[in-house]
Amino acid sequence: MPQNKGAIDIFGLLSEDTVDSEKKKNREALLAPTGVKDFFQEGKISINSYTCLGVQCKECVKVCPTNALYWGSGKVEIVEDLCVYCGACVLNCQVDDCIKLERKRDDGKVEKFSKPKDVLLLQKKANTNKRVQRVRSVILKPQDYYIQYPKTKQK
Ligand code: SF4
Ligand code: SF4
Repeated sequence: MPQNKGAIDIFGLLSEDTVDSEKKKNREALLAPTGVKDFFQEGKISINSYTCLGVQCKECVKVCPTNALYWGSGKVEIVEDLCVYCGACVLNCQVDDCIKLERKRDDGKVEKFSKPKDVLLLQKKANTNKRVQRVRSVILKPQDYYIQYPKTKQK
């Protein structure tokens, strides 16, 4: 039977959406007991078991708010479905580039980081953006300023 190569597989797309929403629901159910919200649309995390300090460290396991990390068979293991890509593990890891994180924000921007200083820089940037937005929200636009403070007549 001849196939139309340019045709879009609508049913394929629909089933992909269904899988995604199923995944999202499962994630929400898994995260509910931790009380931690999922802020990022998607992400990736990996740990280099060759550079990891191993059993004497486990700092990342201790700080993970969702228990996505655990000490498994001789190395730190990840339960990807529980990771919210918060970066706490990277911030506390003593080895640069040992934990690699990639996350997609709501505005579509992708952030990649693997060192504590990267996390601090991102936090600083986020705080600065919040401050700028707060200042913008209280500063009146010129047209609004003239409505609120009409020109007073000179005596
Ligand atoms: S980014 Fe790290 S600390 Fe945060 S949830 Fe994922 S594994 Fe845990
Ligand atoms: S904090 Fe870093 S070095 Fe320590 S156990 Fe975790 S991945 Fe390994």
